[in-house]
Amino acid sequence: MKKIVPFSFILTFLLFGCVNNAQNSSTSAEEKITLEEIAEVISEDALSNLLHEIASDKYEGRMTGEEGQKLAAEYIVDFYKKNEIPAGNNGEYFQPIPSSYFNNKYGDSENILAFIEGTEKPEEVIVISAHYDHVGMDDEGNIINGADDDGSGTVAVMQMAKAFKKAKDEGMGPKRSVLFLLVTAEEIGLLGSKFYSKNPVYPLEKTVTNLNIDMIGRVDKTYENQEDQDYLYLIGADRISQELHDICVEQNDKYIDLHLDFKYNEEDDPMNLYYRSDHYNFAKHGIPSIFFFSGLHDDYHQPTDTADKIEYDLLTKRAQLVFYIAWEVANKENCLSIDEDEESENEE
Ligand SMILES: [Zn+2]
Repeated sequence: MKKIVPFSFILTFLLFGCVNNAQNSSTSAEEKITLEEIAEVISEDALSNLLHEIASDKYEGRMTGEEGQKLAAEYIVDFYKKNEIPAGNNGEYFQPIPSSYFNNKYGDSENILAFIEGTEKPEEVIVISAHYDHVGMDDEGNIINGADDDGSGTVAVMQMAKAFKKAKDEGMGPKRSVLFLLVTAEEIGLLGSKFYSKNPVYPLEKTVTNLNIDMIGRVDKTYENQEDQDYLYLIGADRISQELHDICVEQNDKYIDLHLDFKYNEEDDPMNLYYRSDHYNFAKHGIPSIFFFSGLHDDYHQPTDTADKIEYDLLTKRAQLVFYIAWEVANKENCLSIDEDEESENEE
């Protein structure tokens, strides 16, 4: 027998349904966080707090294999744990490197890996990196704090991990996975990133790009007398993937508006910077890679490279730009394209 449903009941049901939907859509629309709000997690205050800590005398210039570097590693892992940012090496944050890899000249050390798994293409991985080691102390025992080199990159990577975690918690992806790789032993020959590239936790074949940050906290001699000091050097962006370069320009135009300076990217540039930081251990395997840099200054590798000298407004803009570039590469439909002529040229 067919049941007769009273009219008033149907009306109530319809009304309730509509209200409910309206509430849901308006609520979710209201609550939907914007990408800009996610990027704001990478704030001046947060970066300054982290950098004043990691570049403090407590870490004794973070020399590879020494107490100060170990303390810094603990501080970074604590930060990831507190912010519930997952470990990136099969449940572990550390990728240990034996002293023998440094010809026993330096003590055992470790790379630090945090990871945000992609929601749609988890096997494809974006690597955002910096080096957290530095050169320790000078002959007189003065601590070389390394606030810009590479404390600025280290805290940018830490805060970017927090931003991606927030996006994930908000159900906004990323579609591809992101590895936050803080390497050791950069100052003694790019050995931490070399060790990772020889012992990759995520296959290099599935590594889409490396965005490497090394010194983005200051203004160099070229720009110190210029009115507009909102600049950043990008090295390597178009070497393997023209598309990666284009994404940098587009995201910068859309969100940050820094002056992108490509002078150090010239093939014949005498500084040869394309070969002098950790991204090169990815680029040499044919992975599109960028080195983000704001130039040298008088405090480079000196006890005077301290946290109070950092331009935090510029550091924030530069770190947010890297975030927006990573975001686009992590979420774009098709994987980043490699330029045809680059396809065959892989070292090793
Ligand atoms: Zn450096």
